[in-house]
Amino acid sequence: MNKTAFTVAISVLCSLLVVSCKSTEALKPGGEPGGERSGEPARQISQAVERSAVDEWIKVTYPSGSAIPAASTFIAGAIAAGTTLTCNGAPVHVSPEGYFVHVVPLKPGENSFLLVQPQTAKQKELSIKREMPPPPISADTFKIDAEQLQPNNDRGIVVGDLIEFSARATPEAEVVVTLGKRKIILRPATAVAKAASANRHHKKSVKASVAASPVNQGLDAAYGKVYQRRSASPPDLYVGYYKVQPDDQWNGVPAKYTLNHAGKTKSVFGNAKFTTISQPILAETIHSDTIVRVGPGAGRTTPLNNGIRFFVDGWQGDQIRCSFAPGHHFWIKKDDLIFEPNAGNYGQAPNSVARTINIGSDDYGVTVTIPLSQRLPYQIEQHLKPNELILRIFGVTADTDWITPANATAALVDRVSWKQAADGVYEVSVPIKSTRQWGFKADYDETSLVLHIKAKPNVRPDSLQGLTICVDPGHGGKETGAIGCSGIKEATINLAIALKLKALLENSGARVIMTRIADRDVSLDERVEIANKAHADILLSVHNNSLPDGRDPLSEHGTSSYWYHPQSIALARTVNSGMVQEVGFPDFGSRFQNLALTRPSGMLAMLAEVGFVINPEEYAVLLSADGQQRAAQGILKGLFTYLHPPVKH
Ligand SMILES: [Zn+2]
Repeated sequence: MNKTAFTVAISVLCSLLVVSCKSTEALKPGGEPGGERSGEPARQISQAVERSAVDEWIKVTYPSGSAIPAASTFIAGAIAAGTTLTCNGAPVHVSPEGYFVHVVPLKPGENSFLLVQPQTAKQKELSIKREMPPPPISADTFKIDAEQLQPNNDRGIVVGDLIEFSARATPEAEVVVTLGKRKIILRPATAVAKAASANRHHKKSVKASVAASPVNQGLDAAYGKVYQRRSASPPDLYVGYYKVQPDDQWNGVPAKYTLNHAGKTKSVFGNAKFTTISQPILAETIHSDTIVRVGPGAGRTTPLNNGIRFFVDGWQGDQIRCSFAPGHHFWIKKDDLIFEPNAGNYGQAPNSVARTINIGSDDYGVTVTIPLSQRLPYQIEQHLKPNELILRIFGVTADTDWITPANATAALVDRVSWKQAADGVYEVSVPIKSTRQWGFKADYDETSLVLHIKAKPNVRPDSLQGLTICVDPGHGGKETGAIGCSGIKEATINLAIALKLKALLENSGARVIMTRIADRDVSLDERVEIANKAHADILLSVHNNSLPDGRDPLSEHGTSSYWYHPQSIALARTVNSGMVQEVGFPDFGSRFQNLALTRPSGMLAMLAEVGFVINPEEYAVLLSADGQQRAAQGILKGLFTYLHPPVKH
């Protein structure tokens, strides 16, 4: 990339500043963007601002104008190289190239900042609004907030399920939920906290100084740090729960919330309708990459193939509770399933006996095949040291009396063992006879479940010949990624580094597949699909970083890398070290993160964040051809070290 293309003076149509540059959620099989909850803040601060920087002495790229829900933010931008800047009289950190960032505390409401360039006496006023959560309902009103009643989506429930209720209403009053013939009294969260605290003081073993806060619905986390988004036990919060009893029979029954205070009474109905389920419902997956979660909208586990059958025994809105085996609940989106009509009382129940395990091989590596009478759900767990894969199949009972011995050429796996881990949980352990693991995946061949274990790629010594690597320049097209101090898109910098990396990798003999070579839209699913189709050994996504509000780009910056499956930890670490050595940014660490580009299991997959585009010094390096070349060299060095580790003496 030509360095002059990155000068401040260029007029840039600046659009989104993405708080953190990575997209965590792959597109759902249906095609719409994935869930709202993920492992990092997916929140985008956006306001399209068209500005002509040519005749402006200062360009402010962040904040973009939206209200900020944090106690601090940072002002990022660019001024002429060699000049300085103050903000409300305080000196601003400006790089020699004129890139700046300045952290500012925010009080509730409007905050004014005056940016001054002392050399020219030029001034720019900036107003930043801090958004506050709505205040609690005041004690001198008589109100119950119909918008904030919980649960707020329809529930399918069975006997023994717990329903958690909450309401926001006039403090120091009484809120009663009426559900069918049941009455559930909700208690003020403050009283619950006090009671728990008092209970602690009765116990001498508990230190009085240890504060009890059993109700804290205001806790949140952003980019690895936990913070109190809203107050823990606001005075207007009422909470309670109810366990469903055998004689509760509801068919779309709403809950009524009644506020009683000083002789007055007021009732509102919640949005949720409750339905008790007496017989399980049969469902089947309809996509080949069905997202499976461990709670409604919560963390993911192994995605499932299509045509897999299991019982359903509940729902929360569009999240369906799937009972893979007794006590083993998982959640799948309603649109990813079909329901078998009139099932529940008749038809074939989702279970099978496992009689045989066959070990074989194919182009990918080793296959471990378990013939079943129908397609049933599964989960794969990867362990390192010792290297092992655990395949858990639900609805299966062991009657295994034959395991075909390994093919003599299949040196990777020469034995497997099995056990009935629990009622309806059949577990196959596959020890891997190599120092590393290169990939795994499972699918069905008719009704036989096949676990595929990837063989080590045949890489020539002292080169990358024999290795297929998919290089993914993050973002592109409408997805700009983060925006740097002077307005250059992260997507542009990622591509520049990735193209240099492609050349270096090819020079070393690797076969390289790019997910994009221009500034264009490529969905997260497409990127993974490109790597899969190319039978890549390694998927490496190139990104650059940013921070959410409330953080300090001058103290939190550097090079980092991310992995999801244990098999990719060592690669992510060596690539990170390579980048740190070659580029010279601080080591920001190599860590687990749940990302669309780290989740694929069929190959090693990692994401590299070379530096921070909102840190002035790192941004300047990332814009330079030399900096980009060093980033590419660092990644190459890491890959090389991973594939050809130095011999220990
Ligand atoms: Zn990014």
